[in-house]
Amino acid sequence: MPIRKNLAVHRDPYLPLMGPKEVAVCPTCGAVYHHKRWSMESLPALVKGRTVRSAICPACQKGHDSFPGGIITLSGEFLVPNKEQILHLVRNEEARAKRINPLDRIISIKDNLKSVEIQTTSDRFAQRIGMEIQRAYKGDVTYNWSRDDKFIRVKWHR
Ligand SMILES: [Zn+2]
Repeated sequence: MPIRKNLAVHRDPYLPLMGPKEVAVCPTCGAVYHHKRWSMESLPALVKGRTVRSAICPACQKGHDSFPGGIITLSGEFLVPNKEQILHLVRNEEARAKRINPLDRIISIKDNLKSVEIQTTSDRFAQRIGMEIQRAYKGDVTYNWSRDDKFIRVKWHR
């Protein structure tokens, strides 16, 4: 059962404080904030009669601050010969997630040869990657939340 959390309800400390008529655009990735959520909606349709301001979106900010919502560690003998393929799946998940929630992103992928560490902007996105890797490649996966359920450590091993 995937756990879905709404960012607006979640009170993410990175969300900008804005009036209901305001629209913000992230200068880094182009995400648009209005009606208390970030999306990839096109701006011209929204700007009529609204104040548009520039605000770094939480995903870009978290990437910039190296403040991940999740860290996924991949390890095991199966990983090394199949790494390319597994990371391809991870990238595909990112592309898919971005269409639904532009704040679900990969901050970094660190290849340590025998293990890989992936940092993501949100905990649920890290959880999703863990589930998708296990679905495709089996293996063992563990999920550990901390920091008031806003941070997850995912470990996959095969
Ligand atoms: Zn952004």
